[in-house]
Amino acid sequence: MSKSLIYHAFGLRGYDYRATRFENGKRVLVITQRRESYCCSACGSGEVYSQGQIPRRFRTLPIGRKPVEIAFAVPRVRCLSCGLTRQVKIGFAEGSRHHTKQFERYALELARITTTQAAAHHLNVSWDTIRDIEKRYLKKKFSQPKLKHVKRIAIDEIAVRKGHRYLTVVMDLDSGRIIFVGKTRKSKALAPFWKRLKASHAQVEAVATDMSAAYIEAVTKHLPNAALVFDRFHIVKLFNDKLTELRRELYREATDMLQKEVLKGTRWLILKNWENLDEERNERERLEEALSLNHTLATAYYLKDELRQLWEQSTKKRAGRFLDDWCRRAHGSGIRILVQLANTLQGHKTGILAWYDHPISTGPLEGVNNKIKTLKRIAYGYRNEEYFELKILALHCSQYALVG
Ligand SMILES: [Zn+2]
Repeated sequence: MSKSLIYHAFGLRGYDYRATRFENGKRVLVITQRRESYCCSACGSGEVYSQGQIPRRFRTLPIGRKPVEIAFAVPRVRCLSCGLTRQVKIGFAEGSRHHTKQFERYALELARITTTQAAAHHLNVSWDTIRDIEKRYLKKKFSQPKLKHVKRIAIDEIAVRKGHRYLTVVMDLDSGRIIFVGKTRKSKALAPFWKRLKASHAQVEAVATDMSAAYIEAVTKHLPNAALVFDRFHIVKLFNDKLTELRRELYREATDMLQKEVLKGTRWLILKNWENLDEERNERERLEEALSLNHTLATAYYLKDELRQLWEQSTKKRAGRFLDDWCRRAHGSGIRILVQLANTLQGHKTGILAWYDHPISTGPLEGVNNKIKTLKRIAYGYRNEEYFELKILALHCSQYALVG
């Protein structure tokens, strides 16, 4: 094999090709390095003495489906500058790895278009080998996202396994990148993020979160100059949860069988917005019937439907008036859940209306949540936590990230 071929096909520059051997279906290319090119792997100095050799093997690109290995007796040298004895620097592989850089690139390329399992099978290596190569790559590329230019962020928790494991995730809303993955749902999971954000000197303008006290406290403490914007979807969801609670209560209290029957059928209907009710399935009619029989439920439903207009006002000032008016009517209804909600909304008014200055939400994180579900499905579950977190950080390069 010519020197030019081993250089162009296998990326082995500066080595001499000696022989090809066949071992158990593998091709083994034997190469050597010339004495005059020896240098210290630490300082790069060429002033070195030979101190023997260490025979090593490196997996490299296959020829067709046949595995290929490089056999190289790595020279050991004593460096005059460092005063240490070590192996010479190898240009075609990193550190103590058992495969070449070219092999790693090829494995990554394969992992991009198929699953880890299929890539491992094709290359005749273990699943772990592919995973390790991928993990090192992801770590190098994504583990420390740059935060300097981050302006608007969203923080939310996502369920990895329903009810079992949660992660706290931070997204840069301008680039769509996930910039932090915290290991739990508690706000203290964010501690490393605040530290890195501070070190980056980022000028964060606005943060979208839900109305939980822990987030409010953390954002106020660590980003005192940023506007806190309460996510509108979380507010609607909170209302829906309360509405479900109310319907359950009314059902329990109802003595009339007809009332009970009608209430039973409205479980999903009351969570829908009026315009989303399916007319072909008579959903509007059924809901109206239920609401006409139950004044309390009707008041709550119509107030919920109306609350959405809070984010459709022409100005922030109008929105403020709308909210006050809405809360007054909720209070006036005397219905417990509405009074509670009105109190909550009044108490969080600044952050709710801040949406008019910074129209952001945690909505884009919802999309990430769905991608993570796909990730898990393709990758047969993630037992390796670090790997999983790296995959989430790489999600914005979704063509890459969505393969196992
Ligand atoms: Zn040296």
